[in-house]
Formats: sequence, structure tokens, C-alpha cells
Amino acid sequence: MERHQDVVIRTVEERDIRFVRLWFCDVLGTLKSIAISPSDLENAFTEGIGIDGSAIEGLTREYESDMLLRPDPATFELLPWRGEVAGTGRMMCDVLTPDGQPAASDPRRVLKDAIARAEAKGLEFFTHPEIEFYLFERGYEPGQPLRPVDSAGYFDHVHRASGQDFRRTVIQYLEAMNIQVEYSHHENGPGQNEIDLRYADALTTADNILTFRTVVKEVALSMGQVATFMPKPMIDNPGSGMHTHLSLFQNGRNAFHEPGAEYGLSRTGRQFIAGLLRHAPEYCAVTSQFVNSYKRLWGAQEAPSYVCWGHNNRSALVRVPFHKPTKGTSSRVEFRGADSAANPYLAFAVLLAAGLAGIDGEYDLPEGAEDTVWQLTDRERRALGYEPLPTDLFRALETFESSELMAETLGEQVFEYFLRNKHVEWDRYREQVTSVELDATFYRI
Ligand code: GLN
Ligand code: MG
Ligand code: MG
Ligand code: MG
Repeated sequence: MERHQDVVIRTVEERDIRFVRLWFCDVLGTLKSIAISPSDLENAFTEGIGIDGSAIEGLTREYESDMLLRPDPATFELLPWRGEVAGTGRMMCDVLTPDGQPAASDPRRVLKDAIARAEAKGLEFFTHPEIEFYLFERGYEPGQPLRPVDSAGYFDHVHRASGQDFRRTVIQYLEAMNIQVEYSHHENGPGQNEIDLRYADALTTADNILTFRTVVKEVALSMGQVATFMPKPMIDNPGSGMHTHLSLFQNGRNAFHEPGAEYGLSRTGRQFIAGLLRHAPEYCAVTSQFVNSYKRLWGAQEAPSYVCWGHNNRSALVRVPFHKPTKGTSSRVEFRGADSAANPYLAFAVLLAAGLAGIDGEYDLPEGAEDTVWQLTDRERRALGYEPLPTDLFRALETFESSELMAETLGEQVFEYFLRNKHVEWDRYREQVTSVELDATFYRI
């Protein structure tokens, strides 16, 4: 059988590809790219391509700046927006140290390790993200109001709307890159859209999310618009969540499914949810990683603020979607906490680790929430045992910092870097004097 890498080399020759981009990301999930020429491909597969890692956030410590990129030939695709003739290909890469070992700081490595721990128990991890984002008429300019491209709302069909053309082109490009889309629609906020990717193994999905963000930004720019995955760009409009449906398979069977059980949910499924709930305050800094993420979580508008689960309950952190008894393979849980600016590799790694901790520790699942959790009083929520999620990045970092599960899952280097980087972000934020304070106090006393 022809090896993947030989197929790539042949395709590049036959299709007259001039550049191959090697893609990877930093600890925060920012896409990084370096283009090589086809003559370097062979070498990239065998030796890896050397880069100066010190220029990339969190990738190296000061004393070890050289790194290698080794492309994963199974991820080779052409970039549809670069044209057919003399086109451009891309591959996702693993980052290696100069002696060829997986780099501890590579987010893709972190997810691969988490997946390997699940596989050691015979479990395969699948994810399916619903990605929300905003389209604006132009980019952010200090002091200028943001202008969404339309004023439509949830599921609105906008006539002659650029949004439809936009989603159509995005989906065509994604499909051309072998990324399957399930649904797409206008979201609640003006100019806000959602596109849902079809479920796939977690590593593929994480790769696909990085690609997705780039495709969305490219298409927006080609239409004279600007797309953002920022968690909460506007005060009065909803944030952009990345609800993610999670499932585990064992021997080809959905491990969350049990015919006849309540909501068709197996013991394994219940324990997995219990793990997601118990460890939520610890991993929240990863699934909601920016100061701005907490404006979404605490801005109401359908984002979760309390740790609880529910059957079809959209105010809960974890929702068990409506279950068709005939569709055992589709049993899954929807995690609604993450936002669209999360690093998908790290987010999936910590969610998997939390769920597995629930299975290993045989955690009990608390009662499901039937109420709309936002509408309860604090006293009612306390009585029901619904703990709040961290209310800001600083509080999230406090619990993250003392979590063994997080240190183990991310590995020391990513864990330490993340903490440092995020404290800097918090301190920068905290030292600002905002118009809110000036309005409240300048003339007051
Ligand atoms: N925008 C909401 C969030 O941030 C979700 C809205 C929805 O999908 N119903 O989670
Ligand atoms: Mg949705
Ligand atoms: Mg949505
Ligand atoms: Mg959803």
C-alpha cells in the first residue's frame, strides 16, 4: 500500500502545487504557518523542518529555541481560496524537539496524550462543535463602535443577505478541504452566525476547528467583512459559544448509550458528566481562556453560569440532548461552557480528562436541573447545589492552579506557561481605568 506521505508527494507533483503550508498552533490556539516548497517535502516527512520556536508564544523555554515541524500527511488538503493552478496545500504538524521527541509544549501533543490515555481503556473520543462567531462591516478600531453586517436574529432568513452567501462559500471551502458541515444558521446576535461541524475523532475535530477559523476569516475578508471569534464583542448582544458534543465509543459501540435507561444514558455516560461537572471550576480557565470569556459566561443570553446538567436544559453547563431511542449511536453530551476562542486541542484534552476522572472515580451524578437556572434566586441555586462557574479569569486561574488534574493533563510546561501568560493578561486588564469607573466616581465625591 502506498504510504500517506507518498500520496502527498505525488499529488503535489501532479497538481502542480507550488507551496505547502505547515500549520501548527501556539498554546493559546493561534494558528501558525510556514510555507515550504515541494522539494522540501521529503525532508519534512523524514527529518522535520526546523523553526525558531522562541518566536512562538509558549512553544519553547528560552534555552531551547530550535524546534522541528513534522507534517501529518493524513491531513494534506489544498487551500480552496488559493486557486486551482499553482495551488497551495496545507498539512497540520506535530512539533518536535531537535532530537525528534514530541515537544511538551505542543497543544496537539497534549490532546494526543489525553486520547492515548482514553485508548488505553479501550475508549475512543469523538467531538462535534457548534461554532458561533460575528461578522462585522470592518475591523475593530479603538473608539469606534462595532458594526455588525446585519440586524437579524436566531434562525432568521435574511433576504439577499450577505450572511447566506457567506455561509455557503465557507461550507464549500470546508467541504473542499474534507471538513463536513452539519448545520449552519444565523445566530441570535446581529451579524452572528453558527456553523456546526459533523462529528469526528477529537484530534481531527481540533485540526478542523483551526482550519475553520481561518476559512471563516478568509471568506469574510474576501467579502469586505471581518469575522471574529472573540467570546463577547458587544455588551448588549450574546457571546460566541463553542458548544461541543462529546461521546465515547468502545469496541465500535457508543459507550454513553444504554437502551431503556433514563434518557438512554449509560452509567459510563452519567459518570462522564459527573466528571465534567466536578472538575468544571478547574478546567474553566482552559475552555474560557480570556478575560473577555467571562463577560460571555456572566452576560446571560444563553451562556451557562452555573455548574449543573439537564436533559434538554439550555441553561445548564452540560445538556443531554433529546434522544431518539432508535439512534443509539448518537448518544452524546453537549458541553456548553467553551467559547469560540478556546484552543480546541487543550479544551478537548481537559474535557476528556475530566470525564475520564468521573469514570475512573465512579463519580455519582447529581440530580439533573429542570429549571431555567438563570431565573432562580441565589438561595434557590445554593439549595439545589448549583455552584457558580468562576466569575472572572482570576478566579478561574486560582482553581486551575491548584488542580492536579490540569497539571497532569497539560503537562508541566504548558500548565506553567498558561498560568504565567494568563496572569499577565489579568494584570493588564486590572490596571486599566475604564469609562465605567470614571462615570461612576469622577464627579461623585
Ligand atoms: N451564544 C450562546 C452561547 O454563548 C448560545 C446560543 C445558542 O446556541 N442557543 O453559549
Ligand atoms: Mg446550535
Ligand atoms: Mg448556537
Ligand atoms: Mg448547542
